[in-house]
Amino acid sequence: MNKDVTAKGPGRVGQVKEITSLSNPVIKDIKGLSQKKGREETGTFMAEGLKLVIDALDLGWSITTLVYAKNAKEKPLVQKVAARAVAAGALVLEVSEKVLSSITRRDNPQMVVGIFETRWHALSSLKPETNQTFVALDRVRDPGNLGTIIRTADAAGASGVILVGETTDPYSLETVRATMGSVFAVPLYRASASEFLKWKRGSGAKTVATHLAGSVDYRTIDYTDMPVVILMGNEQQGLPEELAREADALARIPQQGLADSLNLAVATAVMLFEARRHLLALN
Ligand code: SAM
Repeated sequence: MNKDVTAKGPGRVGQVKEITSLSNPVIKDIKGLSQKKGREETGTFMAEGLKLVIDALDLGWSITTLVYAKNAKEKPLVQKVAARAVAAGALVLEVSEKVLSSITRRDNPQMVVGIFETRWHALSSLKPETNQTFVALDRVRDPGNLGTIIRTADAAGASGVILVGETTDPYSLETVRATMGSVFAVPLYRASASEFLKWKRGSGAKTVATHLAGSVDYRTIDYTDMPVVILMGNEQQGLPEELAREADALARIPQQGLADSLNLAVATAVMLFEARRHLLALN
């Protein structure tokens, strides 16, 4: 069944498609986005929740499909977001809760899901400025860690996250969930280790690499004289020698107790808030 939705904007009227069948090909395509292959082939990803979808639209992200639960169709904010999606030229689907559950693989799904185009920024054109802080992650594996780090980078006022080497996908459902919407706010870059090192040498940024064998207490570093890239190691293996030896400082977070290291996302948060604290103290 097709219904007219009057979109806000220059007199545009678009259509909402109602779908109740799990075997509908459009639904199958959307479910394909839970696989990396599906995201890479379409250049799109899924974000759940009304607030996230509104934030993404406000930040200018390109929406290709909006899906909402039939039982939420009377809610004014859902109607408004549907009209915005129609105005943006997106496909708008009104579906049963069963369909939403199967798309999001959740028993209690959010009432709105947006499909957006993925966005990567070119590291080669990144020219960091003195008051900026970036995080670079070497081969981050865990989607929850990556999502938490993107969220933390956003909250700490970092200017971007650089993914170095083979990493988990920031646009997977699990990572996007863990970012709590910050995936739309933090620019993402990706590079091989050699591309990262080449960029770093010409960037004018100070690379502070964190290392369990680091010689410098992270609190004694000057984070204000140059733009800073905080480089974090892989969850299992830590930072490889080829990256560690080119760092401008090898920082250690002093620990007590039995734990031999901090969780990657926790260590990143400690580093980021320290670096940003130094800069905020200047203002
Ligand atoms: N077994 C790994 C190793 O030997 O490096 C542990 C890696 S740790 C779980 C993941 C990353 O978090 C490290 O590579 C480092 O970047 C950072 N990290 C964790 N605890 C740290 C600490 N106390 N000081 C500095 N960096 C730390």
